[in-house]
This record gives sequence, structure tokens and C-alpha cells, in this order.
Amino acid sequence: MLFSELANTFDRLERTGGRLEMTAILADFFRGADPSGLRDSVYLSQGRLHPEYFPQELGMADKLVLRSISMAAAKPYDEVEREWVRAGDPGTVAESLIKGGGQTTLFSEPLTLGRVMSGLGEIEMAEGKDSQDRKMKKLFLLLRDAGPAESKYLCRIVTGRMRVGAGAMTVLEALAEAFSSKEARADVERAYNITCDMGLVAETIASGGIEAVRAMRVSVGSPIKVMLAERLPSVGQIVERMGGRCAMEYKYDGIRVQAHIGREVKLYSRRLEDLTPNFPDVAEELRRACLAKEAIVEGECVAVDGSGAMLPFQTVTHRRKKHGMDKAVEDYPVRMFMFDMLYRDGEDLTVRPLPERRAALEGAFGPSDKVGLTSMEIVEDAAAGERFFSTALAARCEGVMAKSLKPESVYRAGSRGFLWIKYKKDYEEALSDTFDLAVVGAFYGMGKRAGKYGALLMAAYDHEAGRYCTVCKLGTGFDDSFLDGLPSMMEGHASREKPHDVDAQMEPDAWFVPAVVLEVTAAEISLSPIHTAASSSLGGGGLGLRFPRFTGRVRDDKGPEQCTTAAEILEMYEERGGGA
Ligand code: AMP
Repeated sequence: MLFSELANTFDRLERTGGRLEMTAILADFFRGADPSGLRDSVYLSQGRLHPEYFPQELGMADKLVLRSISMAAAKPYDEVEREWVRAGDPGTVAESLIKGGGQTTLFSEPLTLGRVMSGLGEIEMAEGKDSQDRKMKKLFLLLRDAGPAESKYLCRIVTGRMRVGAGAMTVLEALAEAFSSKEARADVERAYNITCDMGLVAETIASGGIEAVRAMRVSVGSPIKVMLAERLPSVGQIVERMGGRCAMEYKYDGIRVQAHIGREVKLYSRRLEDLTPNFPDVAEELRRACLAKEAIVEGECVAVDGSGAMLPFQTVTHRRKKHGMDKAVEDYPVRMFMFDMLYRDGEDLTVRPLPERRAALEGAFGPSDKVGLTSMEIVEDAAAGERFFSTALAARCEGVMAKSLKPESVYRAGSRGFLWIKYKKDYEEALSDTFDLAVVGAFYGMGKRAGKYGALLMAAYDHEAGRYCTVCKLGTGFDDSFLDGLPSMMEGHASREKPHDVDAQMEPDAWFVPAVVLEVTAAEISLSPIHTAASSSLGGGGLGLRFPRFTGRVRDDKGPEQCTTAAEILEMYEERGGGA
């Protein structure tokens, strides 16, 4: 397959706003594409060379890319740099300066998808002495044979700017439409949620149809999208919603870990990062204590003191650092509290109801003082639930998780629903809950904060539309050291224009591609003429947060797609009788 076929499709997607139209364009492309290129096309549509849980080290600095463009376009570097200062994105510069496409020199070869993948792969692997130079030359060799659209996307991919507006959900919907029917979307989504590998799903549906997709199962080594909880404002409402009977577990304040136990053990975060280097002690103990040959379990890693008592979340964050891990492992002991089992020795347990999964978990581990099960009680009325909640707080947990015990209580990978309902201490206070929001913009400060960012534009995620919608301008709760560190924290996420997937009416001084997630509290949710969250459901204005305040917690365990959703905010707004 020629890379130009894919680049032209990206171009069409980028010029389209509507989700339906994007799905149709993609479905058309998938139907006509050479099946052997389908997997890579799907990865590239998300700016990736591999499935999303595979760490990608492609990030080339803009100036290095400008050097490749300068060589490919045969233009002086200064001229290329001037264009870049104006446009802000090497992709746009490449598109306007590189006129080639086709064999322009004796040495040129057609730019096939296969060549692009291996060229990008070599750029990713280049290490050590002269690696920058080698990356630059590899990119030049691709650009030399590329036309304007191909150049644009090559440069966007290597600089981490690939956002054509078609998110995971749109791609999956298009795959269902192309190879089965719209109705097959739920099965395609489930296959993706249990494998986290959109390319594999594409290949499977293209070769074996929807039946093959339905037959896909979880497997050790390929992470599963985590199941998430809804929230309700009181224990009484939770027990009622659960039909008068449910399991209640402590809600531990730590780091969620999905452990894949085989001959070796791999630990994944809820963002699918590899956490094995951060918790080598937990990995080792899981292998030792696990009675199964192969298993996938989930739990929360919490810092504990010498007596085993739980310590606040801030302590366990020492285990998320990139360096000095040996010392952190020694200084900050942890315990893993397991709450679910998704697979055991050939059996996919995600399709089993919770009581069966819990029984499997209980039977799968021998005694250990480093890994164990969550505290759990079956609750049959609100008073028992309240008592359990108080015990959880006394044990220094942040609240409780109620879980359905009904036959339909399967593990719903990647979804947030009422099979699990969380209830936290904050809900009892006037401020109802915290929101995890993505930074999409910044405003320069005044007075003491002049010259620095003083406030941030924050957005919730609209899961259905795949877009980020603003909910507040956040200027409270920052201390000086946080504000000083902001530019470096946001480095690499700056965008010259409003990012393609952000819905905002406010015009901040700087735009950011959604990447960094902060925890925010607010006094109230109210209708807002300027914010855009849930505006499609409300018809008119959107929802905004009043008196927002940063709690001090950067949610680096969450990706932007895992922020609080616009639908959740709408639900909370309606629960409170429309903001009253
Ligand atoms: P939140 O991050 O507030 O949406 O709450 C959901 C998170 O609570 C999960 O992702 C887990 O990291 C954490 N958690 C703590 N205890 C439990 C538990 N017993 N069951 C499930 N999740 C838990």
C-alpha cells in the first residue's frame, strides 16, 4: 500500500468536523485498503507505531525535524525555521515546502506504508552516539520521496502531534461498519477494551469477520482497559440502586495496578504504562504467592508503615518516580490490596459475575504480608453500609466501593457504570467531589504572577464525541512552586492553535493539547454561557464549575481520556436538581 493513500485519508479526516462523516471516510478507506496494511494504518491514525501499551520513544525535537525538511526541500535552514516560527508546527511547514511526491532523484523509491513503518521504527530505535543525526537522516530519506500530505503527517507523527480528530471510538465504529454492521460496534469495542490493541482488532475483523472478534479473549501480557465506578451522593442511595444488597469494599487511596502473572510478572497502570520497575517487590511477591500458573489480577498499591498501617496517597507517589527507584522501594514499603481477578489458567473471567471472580481470587493466593485481598462485607441496608464506611475511614481509606453481586455483574472493561459505585469522604462535605480535568489552555497572570501562567483553562472529556469541553478557568489553589514548575510540566504539549479536539469559547494566552490532568474541587456546578461541557445535551450553554480550586494533586496516573466526563458532570448537576 502506498503511504499517500493513508495520508490523503488523514487529510480528508482533518478537514471534517462531524463524527458521522469521519466514520464514513474511515470505513471507506478500510474497505478498500490492502488487508496487510490495515493494522499499521490503524496504529498510525493514532500517531503510533505499536499498540498503545507499548511505550513509544519517537519524540523528535522540532528543530531536528526542520533540518530534515531543509534537506528534503532543498531550502536553507533559516528559511525553514522562519516558516516554523510562523506556523508553529513542522508538519505544516513540510506540507508547504516539500513539493515532491514520486521519484524525484535517481535514488528515490516509492513511499510504501511498509517503508514508512520501518523508517519510523529505525528512528525510534536509534540510540547512543550520533543518534540525533541518524534520526534526522532517516526522516530525510522518507521526506525525499514524499508529497506534501505525506510529509505533513510524517512530521506530525515523529513530533507527537498526530491528531486527525478520529479517536479510538471513531476508528472502532468505522471497523464495525466496514466489515460487519453498525450494530457490531459493541462487540468491536469490547474486543478493543480487553486487548488494548486496535490494530489487532482491525486485522481480526478483516480476516475473520465479527465472529472472530467475538471469539477474542483476554490474555496475559496484553493489558485490559480498567472498569470504573459511577458515583452517588449517599450510602442509602447506593444500597437502593444496588437493589438492597451489594458488596462493599474499602476504597484504598493508592495506585491502581493490573498485574499479569505468567512465568514473569508485568504490572500496568490504568493508563497502560509499565509499572513493573516501580513495584518490583510487589511483582516478585505476586509470583511467589500466586497458586495459578497464569493470572491477571487487579488491586491498589498503598504505602504502609512498619506496623502495616496505611499511609496517605502522597507517600506512595514516591514509587512513581522515574529515577532512584531502588531507594524508594526500600524507603516506602507498599502492600497490594487485590479486588478483582480477570483471568486464570486459560479461563477468561471477565465474563463471570463478581461473586465468582472474588471466589477465584480468594482461591488463587497463598498467605503473604505484601499482597492480599481488599476488606469486603456484604451489605443489606443503609445502616450497615454507613457502619462499613466509618470503618473504612478509620482505617485511613478514602471511602468505599459498592459492587453489584447480581448475575450481570461482569467485568466491563473500559466502561464506567453502576455495577460499581464509589462513595468518598468528600461527598459528605459541602464540596461534593473532586473532578479530574485536563489542562487545555493557560492565561498569563497579573501583579505578583506577571510573566508567569496565573490561571489554567480546564476541560472534561466528552467520551461519545471524543472531544474535550471546557468547564472552568482555574486560578486558585496553586502555590508559587507549582506555578514556577508549570512551563516545564506543560512543555511538549503546547499548541499554536486551539487543538482539533478541544471545544472552547474562551481564548487563553496559550493552548495545550490535552495531556496533563489535575484534580479540582468546586462549590457548585452551574449553567454557563462560556463553557462547553454537556452543551449538546442542554441545548444552548454548557456546564461550568463555580469557585474551582486545585487540590494540589496532579493526576499523573490518569490520561486525558480518563478525566471526569461531561456526562458525569451533567449527571451530578441533574442529581442536585439542576445546580441548586
Ligand atoms: P476514582 O479514581 O475516584 O474514579 O476511583 C476509582 C479508583 O479507586 C479505581 O481506579 C481504583 O484505583 C481505586 N480503588 C480503591 N479501592 C478500590 C476497590 N476496592 N475496588 C475498585 N477500585 C478501587
